[in-house]
Amino acid sequence: MDSPRTTGPRYRFAPSPTGFFHVGGARTALWNWALAHSEGGTFVLRIEDTDEARNQPEWTQGIIDALAWIGIGADDPHFEGPYFQSHYAEQHVAAAQQLFASGDAYYCDMTAADVEARNKAEGNQGYQGWSRDRGLEHGPGRVLRFRVPEGTTTVHDLVRGEVAFDNVLIEDFVLLRGNGSPMFLLANVVDDQAMAITHVVRAEEHLPNTPKQQMIWRALGHQPPVWAHVPVLVNEQRKKLSKRRDKVALEMYRDEGYMSAAMVNYLMTLGWTPKGESEIAEWPQMQADFRLEDVNHSPAFFDLKKLAAFNGEYIRMLTPEQFLAACRPWLFSDNAPFTADRFDEAKFLAMAPHIQPRCVTLADAAGVIDFLFLADPVIDRAAWAKTFAAPESVAVLRASTAAYEVLPLWNAEALKATLEITGEAHGLKLGKAQAPVRVAVTGRTVGPPLFEALEALGRDESLRRMRVAEAAVA
Ligand code: GLU
Repeated sequence: MDSPRTTGPRYRFAPSPTGFFHVGGARTALWNWALAHSEGGTFVLRIEDTDEARNQPEWTQGIIDALAWIGIGADDPHFEGPYFQSHYAEQHVAAAQQLFASGDAYYCDMTAADVEARNKAEGNQGYQGWSRDRGLEHGPGRVLRFRVPEGTTTVHDLVRGEVAFDNVLIEDFVLLRGNGSPMFLLANVVDDQAMAITHVVRAEEHLPNTPKQQMIWRALGHQPPVWAHVPVLVNEQRKKLSKRRDKVALEMYRDEGYMSAAMVNYLMTLGWTPKGESEIAEWPQMQADFRLEDVNHSPAFFDLKKLAAFNGEYIRMLTPEQFLAACRPWLFSDNAPFTADRFDEAKFLAMAPHIQPRCVTLADAAGVIDFLFLADPVIDRAAWAKTFAAPESVAVLRASTAAYEVLPLWNAEALKATLEITGEAHGLKLGKAQAPVRVAVTGRTVGPPLFEALEALGRDESLRRMRVAEAAVA
């Protein structure tokens, strides 16, 4: 282990690299990160990679990348790690031996099938401490079990308050498997002790493990850490977010064009409310204000609509230059509707304030503005047919093309004033008069403000498209 760089409390985030990075994990990480920062402490990243069958190295890199995307990473003085649980197997076994030597643990040669058979015969459930007093030594196939004492184990949890567990309901749980490998409960505690963790802030699903782990902490001669179990995330049906059913991978949101700042802000609000009038809050403020004592313990609804709204707000807050920089990966991807050589930065920047309000994700920008950078607009045939079914639309297109041809100044204001007059002459209000011009130039009936779009597209190209449309509807 590195020597600690801070002297404050030590938080940790201990994911298992078994798949994509879950949004719930991201929220837990952010809360730990906020606390480590605001309390002048440390955030330790420990990869719990002892389940060889399920772990894959790429998942570990995925975790590190995903954390970096939400602003958690090694270039920060409060960050320590990553450590890998698999490197500490010797310490886990040594701790198990210590527990055996002190009498807090004992070996048992009963297999799972033996336990089941005996329970069936005796009408019991769970392991009944059968080998407690048999004095078995270590041997092949023997598991090491913790000797759960009588009484009650009370967990002081910063989110949930005091939670009391009756030890009668906790069986003598396994510390080492029959092959000698340490179980999660033990490895997790031994690492937390070795890494001098003071605060364990983790998912609520681990609460049932906590009395057992607290017993291990004490039996190994340490004061348990401060515990906090944070509420689960649920979907619209109030079911726990699941990998199979729900979109839970942080990476997917990143790749779809959610902004990191929006995601961070949204995740922070899942079970906690930023101070101030709006839930939209800056990271430094949230980091300073976040307290576990203020976390709500009911499940938090992971609301995709709200996330989309947050993202839209964050997109609108960008300057045109920031917006362009943020959109680049999608503007120049293989899936972009136009080729990179046709892209014009100045046109994009000029239109940015009109594109931003039309984007839920950064990926949307290319589709909103594609007509500017395509040789020809992609025509929405249904919209076209509907628009030009009205004879006055055809007339307005013809008349506005003629009027625009002689327009001295090609700017949004003049374009608008001209169409207003042309429309009126044909009995159409401006709103209706725009449709034929818009369909001709952009291919669609919806999109960014027409006159700004015409200005950005330029006189020659706009008129060319209008003439093409005119010929087509003639
Ligand atoms: N590796 C465990 C998990 O991913 C973390 C346990 C903990 O935070 O203590 O669920």
